[in-house]
Amino acid sequence: MIIAIDGPAGSGKSTIAKLLAQELKIEYIDSGAIYRTIALHGINSFPEGCQGREQEIAEQIRNDPGMIRISYENHTQVMWLNDEDVSKSIRHPKVTSQVKYIADYPACRELVNSKMRIIARDYPVVIDGRDIGTVVFPDSTHKFFLDAQPKIRAERRAGDLNIKPSGSDFEELIRQMEIRDKNDRERAIAPLKRAEDALYLDTSDMTVEEVIASILNHCHRLND
Ligand code: C5P
Repeated sequence: MIIAIDGPAGSGKSTIAKLLAQELKIEYIDSGAIYRTIALHGINSFPEGCQGREQEIAEQIRNDPGMIRISYENHTQVMWLNDEDVSKSIRHPKVTSQVKYIADYPACRELVNSKMRIIARDYPVVIDGRDIGTVVFPDSTHKFFLDAQPKIRAERRAGDLNIKPSGSDFEELIRQMEIRDKNDRERAIAPLKRAEDALYLDTSDMTVEEVIASILNHCHRLND
């Protein structure tokens, strides 16, 4: 079984996917974390940034299949880069600002997709991202698209990053999220969009428990 959860940043998908995986005792694949790990490798290799270096980055990773690894601890994904646990460092703003070049590059997307397909071949999974229900697993029968009003999404992200939900840092966060969303929705390859057969949930006024219950209800109906 593959439960595909797509949506923009701050829509709640990673929180929901994580809890869902724990509830169902299956693995959670955070596809954004894999893109981020590739971006971190790019930054380490090319301090001036990933732009223009995407092909070299993809080749380095393809030539060294053990460089980026994914493991699981209690259904939580751990990301490894050259045997170092980078699960925290991939959240750094520098990585967030560079990941777009990786996400826009077909060979890098293929690397991420093949890693996910290998895991999903052997295990039931919950996967969150932007193109999981549309491109990576279009045949998955359990698809969800989470969304929320932009201000609420920014407030959630501010909470994750320990930023006060007002003032200049918050304004800058909103601006960065708008840029990232626009890029994700408008890029030529695998843009963020709802799969026609995905259940759409606006989580703006929903608690985490309500979102989980809606998803589980829908899954039960599909399984009947
Ligand atoms: O979800 P997260 O914000 O960690 O993802 C980092 C970036 O990776 C996103 O801004 C998006 O551009 C990209 N991404 C993607 N496709 C996915 C998951 C993430 O393009 N399936």
